[in-house]
Amino acid sequence: MNEPLALDGSVTIVGASLAGLRCAETLRAQGFSGTITMIGEESSTPYDRPPLSKNVLNGKWEIEKVTLADDAKLDDLRITTRFGMKAVALDAGAHRVVLADASTLDSDAVVITTGAGLRYLPGTRDLEGVYGLRTDDDAVNLRRALVALNPASRVVLVGAGFIGQEVATAAAAMNHQVTILEGLDLPLLPIVGPHVAELLLTFSASSGVALRCGVKVTSIEGPRDGALAGWVNIEGADPVPADLIVVGIGVTPSTAWLEDSGLTIENGVVTDRHLFAGPGIVAAGDVARFHWNDAGHNELVRIEHWQMAVDQGVHAAKSLLAGPKHAETFAAVPYFWSDQWGKKIQVLGHPSADDDVSLAIVPDEEGRFLAIYHHDDFITGVLAVSKPRQLMAFRPLLVKGSTLSEAKDIAL
Ligand SMILES: Cc1cc2nc3c(=O)[nH]c(=O)nc-3n(C[C@H](O)[C@H](O)[C@H](O)COP(=O)(O)OP(=O)(O)OC[C@H]3O[C@@H](n4cnc5c(N)ncnc54)[C@H](O)[C@@H]3O)c2cc1C
Repeated sequence: MNEPLALDGSVTIVGASLAGLRCAETLRAQGFSGTITMIGEESSTPYDRPPLSKNVLNGKWEIEKVTLADDAKLDDLRITTRFGMKAVALDAGAHRVVLADASTLDSDAVVITTGAGLRYLPGTRDLEGVYGLRTDDDAVNLRRALVALNPASRVVLVGAGFIGQEVATAAAAMNHQVTILEGLDLPLLPIVGPHVAELLLTFSASSGVALRCGVKVTSIEGPRDGALAGWVNIEGADPVPADLIVVGIGVTPSTAWLEDSGLTIENGVVTDRHLFAGPGIVAAGDVARFHWNDAGHNELVRIEHWQMAVDQGVHAAKSLLAGPKHAETFAAVPYFWSDQWGKKIQVLGHPSADDDVSLAIVPDEEGRFLAIYHHDDFITGVLAVSKPRQLMAFRPLLVKGSTLSEAKDIAL
């Protein structure tokens, strides 16, 4: 289909979460009156994931509060749902989606928003006492387990990424004895670079958790000798006893169902600049690997952040309705945040770890600071710790593409 999607056509959205929902909402807002069918492997209606590692885990929110669209809202949007049902294959040429019960769905257009799934350490997936955090059920189970432990229990986190540190924050607030095992020399090194990684390190250090970097976890053994969850084996050092273990070692894009689809699958669903993965097929959110051309970067990227899923879900709908000839190039300033150790870390833009960094606000006594990333004098991103107003002042500069000298005019 190289023509625009007809307003009374049919669309199948595979992946019933943030990007898929925003895509459906945009189709309706743009006057699409045809059939929308949404397929979701999870049985829940679409829900928001960021609060899972924050307000749900720390007990401030009941799980129901994360709902993005309940049945009534989905009815209002006239979406036919198949939840608790996995898509197992796609025939891209025919726009035919095959479901786990062997039924098929044909439509004029297909939207791929299957996101990403947790990576596991080999052999640990079904171990009792070993948790991951991606879904609403994961959050409820992890919260229940953390609450059930006696205070000062040994909670071991494998991985000190953003979600790992948020989980560590919640566990430490419950007075557990928290150890974080990180393979990198510094947490978040490939994302924020060495200078900023050193600055962020101080937060966990001053919160009383034990952070061990450069540690290679080789396996996890089951419970013995009083360690309720088991022992975390690490290369060249003594095993670490744990009463609860959380593995947060990242995610992989959920593309297994697309293996024989004929689409280009390389660390995600590869799209063009309009988010088309093929004729009449768009991809958006955590699963999409799209062409990024900005401030000295010219590459295919996959960005696993909430705002990117929203922006791409919206854009994918518009691309389908415009058709490939008239669709606009997807261009957005990426944004994400993380709440950890009582601080809000926010990043605008798409900085690289090897970009140069200038501190526009040096750390104060509470650790708040603002760092500008630049490459060949062009600003690639800005990272702020608990400086939201100052961070957002940089947005217009990132939208238009600016040099470091232009940043000097920003009032901080
Ligand atoms: C605990 C947690 C905390 C986070 N915190 C932040 C934060 O603070 N800031 C931030 O910017 N981002 C955060 N994120 C990331 C953000 O939530 C994701 O970027 C966003 O959810 C991506 O949305 P999506 O719709 O692309 O994919 P997903 O939310 O991953 O949804 C994909 C859906 O597709 C379904 N699916 C997969 N395969 C199939 C299939 N074959 N058939 C049918 N359905 C399928 C999945 O079950 C899932 O429901 C967090 C994520 C997690 C898990």
